[in-house]
Amino acid sequence: MEAPRILIVEDEAKTAQALRTGLAAEGYEAVVAATGEEGASQLAGGGFDLVVLDWMLPGRDGIEILGDLRVRGEKPAVLLLTARDSVEDRVLGLDSGADDYLVKPFAFAELVARVRALLRRSVPEESLRRQVGDLVVDLAMRQVFVGGEEILLTPREFEVLAFLARHEGEVVTRRMLALEVWREPNRSTPLDNVVDVHFARLRKKIDGGRSVRFIHTVRGVGYVLEERAAAQEGRRTLK
Ligand code: CA
Repeated sequence: MEAPRILIVEDEAKTAQALRTGLAAEGYEAVVAATGEEGASQLAGGGFDLVVLDWMLPGRDGIEILGDLRVRGEKPAVLLLTARDSVEDRVLGLDSGADDYLVKPFAFAELVARVRALLRRSVPEESLRRQVGDLVVDLAMRQVFVGGEEILLTPREFEVLAFLARHEGEVVTRRMLALEVWREPNRSTPLDNVVDVHFARLRKKIDGGRSVRFIHTVRGVGYVLEERAAAQEGRRTLK
């Protein structure tokens, strides 16, 4: 299952990078265009599920790009960003074909909530669900089920599991987790202990007392999410 693709059209480099990094950490594939022209040419290539579109851009502004997109009858959901907050501006933005409207400055959490809501409307449910055997991770609803039974996780535990689920069958290193889940790349002391403590709790909730296990340690490297029988896991540990 592919991650939803998001185009960010934003000329302020710092904002654009922060959005790109943040959206990537949420599991989206995010691409930045720094000008209206670049945005328009990326959009002409197609394949985006959502566009985070700044209104005020040098050259072609957000409203023009939006107009062209809708004239061509293209579907990506559009979240318009703007510092303009009059009622007339909102009406113009929405009349131009934006699906939603966010006034700068905004909290990243709010942007993510809007993005999620827009994608729920435009992307089939399936792509926001990850299923590994009996384990279902619903990225949109932030719910986890094992064998149909809901498992209650803390927000951090959910982030860890969602990250593993997006990388099913691949080894996820502690460094990847520090960067993508904890987002503390510049921390002076390693996060290893913190990560391990979260894994111990997560494991207990997901794998505790079951004959099938999902979360496995790769010694000295990190973790992997895949379905294995508990007995099989035992053999691997002995190697
Ligand atoms: Ca701008």
